[in-house]
Amino acid sequence: MSQPKLAILDDYQGISAPHFTHLSSRISISQFPSTLDPRDPRQQEELITRLRPFDVILAMRERTPFNAETLGALPNLKLLLTTGTRNRALDTEFCAARGIPVAGTVGRASGGVHSTVQHTWALILALARHVARDDAALKRGEELWQGSLGMSLAGRTLGLVGLGKLGVQVGRIAIEGFGMEVIAWSTNLTQERADELAKGVGLAEGSFAVVRDKLRFFGRADVVSVHHVLSERSRGIVGRRELDAMKRGALLVNTSRGPLIDEEALLETLNAGGIAGAALDVFDPEPLPRDSPWRTTAWGEDGRSEVVLTPHMGYGDEQIHGCPAAFANSAISTTSLPAGSLFAKITTATPSKKAYTSVQTSRNTHIELNSDLVFCNHSCNPSLNFDMAKMEVRVVDDRPLNVGDALTFFYPSSEWDMDQPFECNCGAGEGRCKGVIRGAGGMKREELEGYWLNAHIEEMVRERDGF
Ligand SMILES: [Zn+2]
Repeated sequence: MSQPKLAILDDYQGISAPHFTHLSSRISISQFPSTLDPRDPRQQEELITRLRPFDVILAMRERTPFNAETLGALPNLKLLLTTGTRNRALDTEFCAARGIPVAGTVGRASGGVHSTVQHTWALILALARHVARDDAALKRGEELWQGSLGMSLAGRTLGLVGLGKLGVQVGRIAIEGFGMEVIAWSTNLTQERADELAKGVGLAEGSFAVVRDKLRFFGRADVVSVHHVLSERSRGIVGRRELDAMKRGALLVNTSRGPLIDEEALLETLNAGGIAGAALDVFDPEPLPRDSPWRTTAWGEDGRSEVVLTPHMGYGDEQIHGCPAAFANSAISTTSLPAGSLFAKITTATPSKKAYTSVQTSRNTHIELNSDLVFCNHSCNPSLNFDMAKMEVRVVDDRPLNVGDALTFFYPSSEWDMDQPFECNCGAGEGRCKGVIRGAGGMKREELEGYWLNAHIEEMVRERDGF
């Protein structure tokens, strides 16, 4: 039986590898860090050729879109994974029709200020205080010591395009941190809703003033920051008319999605010095090609506006690297069986060295399971027993297995000394959960009581304890 093939796409920073090492003996993993854009027919063809062999594809964020045309050309695809819980670049309706499950990861616990909000403020301040311009000038060794003065934010107006979770946080910092006025606009935003949101973060009613007329909104703001979901309707939501309505001294910041702003209109506006500056973290396409005018134009010179660019860094900070829960998988039972009954026969196992994924079958032998059984996690209150002498997986003796139960077994029932001890989070509760799981060799006889154990483990415990 050949191993399932997993393709990991667009992992620019190489952060995914540690999360898949425990599966590397069972699935063949390929990394494709360079993005192909299916809107270009040649790249589309290359993308399909690249991905055709794969059973599982991990789409990192919205970097590679998967439309029906691409998905329809991937006959081997059985599972589509994505980071996060919302990925608008995937045609999930098509996946549903084809019976391809799409799975995402739960968000990390939010505490403090969201990284996109921090990045938004870093960009607003970088522009308003000419940080990037002055830094570059100093390093180029220019004679000029000081350029034009920075913008003072107090009393200025911040205009939020979109008043969702991020817009609200950006607005709150504008009011509490910088003494700015905040106005907001989006298609169906009402003052009542804006007041509710303001109260939700401890601000007074009216703190976010809704301006219903879109062009008046753009005409009033000194800083416009975009915090809007991208959809077909919101594409180009900031267009030529809106840019023309902005004040000459105003700043525009986009940390949401590139296509929300009409790029051609923005380039023209900035080339003509129509606004003071723009700071962009998002583009279309990404990564931004080397010959993109964003990268090659002498911004801030000859009457052009100042431009600050970052490579889509607003979404993630160090938190994204250290969230094991976001990558935890589990197997769930789709059948109900009585206590003690046979759940599965292990028929395709291969001998293995001791590894994170192996199961110990005797004093000194180990196997790889080569099946979905690999998704059975450890629990201190397991639903299954792995009988490695009979090569059987059975429902535990003291309770039945029900549809929806997690499929788990007690690792020390087969493992003496595990390759990778781990801190258990089985949720079995105080007294029942054993904490750090290292295998039976690291546990007292009393701790193993009440668990069904493989014969080799019972023998080894007896030998160790001398009775
Ligand atoms: Zn536990």
